[in-house]
Amino acid sequence: MHPEQHITIAIDGFSSCGKSTLAKALAQKLHYTFIDTGAMYRCVALYALRNGCVLGPHKINLSCIVSSLPEINIRFGDTDQQENRIVLLNGEDVSDAIRQLEVADIVSEVAAIKEVRESLVKQQQELGKNGGVVMDGRDVGTVIFPQAELKLFITAQPKIRAKRRFLELQAKGETNSLEEILENLEHRDHIDSTRAISPLKQAEDAIVVDNSEMDQQQQLDYVLNIIKNKTNLQH
Ligand code: C5P
Repeated sequence: MHPEQHITIAIDGFSSCGKSTLAKALAQKLHYTFIDTGAMYRCVALYALRNGCVLGPHKINLSCIVSSLPEINIRFGDTDQQENRIVLLNGEDVSDAIRQLEVADIVSEVAAIKEVRESLVKQQQELGKNGGVVMDGRDVGTVIFPQAELKLFITAQPKIRAKRRFLELQAKGETNSLEEILENLEHRDHIDSTRAISPLKQAEDAIVVDNSEMDQQQQLDYVLNIIKNKTNLQH
């Protein structure tokens, strides 16, 4: 295995473990494409919210969402000043809107719908079909690309994850409390891990990375080292 062979790197794990941050940094380093599959589920959830398919906290109108699917077009655009790829929902830049807690509060219910998963998984497989991708989510190594050459399963202590997300949202001017965020993370982890279709679980051949005590640079170095070791082993 060599990064220059344009391998597929699958990064799965619990909510707010810094998967996307790590995936983005890895993609930059290796000159790969970064695909945030969670952003796609968030787009469907945002569309559902805006179009009356959400009935209340954690309550969705399933048929409303399923019948909306043909009207939902999700694309990744250019990168913004922070090197984040812009997320486009029917042509509108929703990169910030999809990160709001209102969306996070409903996204796991939306992501448990069979038709939603089938539609997005197909698009994700298409986006990554040529390799040279770092894709992060919940089912990348188990369902989207079970043949991925490198699979990472990221985890961290819930309180540390909530604190990181709290600071991230605070920097964007959001005023959610730490408790609210922790509750959302635990709720999402529970639904994501226990749903009937493609639940979040560690692929048998995934390498587990607990990043509770690591900063972003340490994580990147750690994973680059794993890639280097794998490369050396096979040469
Ligand atoms: O990764 P992120 O936290 O943005 O994902 C938002 C939600 O989308 C997750 O909590 C999960 O419910 C869903 N998701 C999923 N499968 C993926 C990626 C995300 O079910 N591959």
